[in-house]
Amino acid sequence: MVRVPINVLVVDDEEDFVEMFTMRLSEMGERPRGVHSGRECLKILEEEGADVDVVILDIKMPGMDGIETLREIRKRFPIVEVILLTGHGSVDSAVTGMKLGAFDYLNKPADFVELEEKLEGARKRKAEQEDRIRRAESRTMSRKSGEMF
Ligand SMILES: [Mg+2]
Repeated sequence: MVRVPINVLVVDDEEDFVEMFTMRLSEMGERPRGVHSGRECLKILEEEGADVDVVILDIKMPGMDGIETLREIRKRFPIVEVILLTGHGSVDSAVTGMKLGAFDYLNKPADFVELEEKLEGARKRKAEQEDRIRRAESRTMSRKSGEMF
């Protein structure tokens, strides 16, 4: 079976980290992009919406931090999955983030085996949710068309 690449958006204020991470994701066969702030992340989601499967989101960023960005993503793009990136001292925030609906978190420097597993898990959760929505929609539609007759 042909494996469909995961559309990943990497958000981190450290440019080297984004570069290294997107390169690694490309090597893994995924379709990554990178940006350096929460604002840029939201802008891409506005443009592409649910075409982005998973956002890998740094917690500590200047300006709009990861948790604030996560809140916006959950509110405006609830189908998109988020994996948080935590550094020193932000594990508490990772727990907060997961309570807000993040799929999981990764410690920096990231372990790529763990990354691959969590990414696959996040993709699976999004696909299942999309599937449930589609089924619910088709049930509603058949009910509505039933009312017309
Ligand atoms: Mg940072």
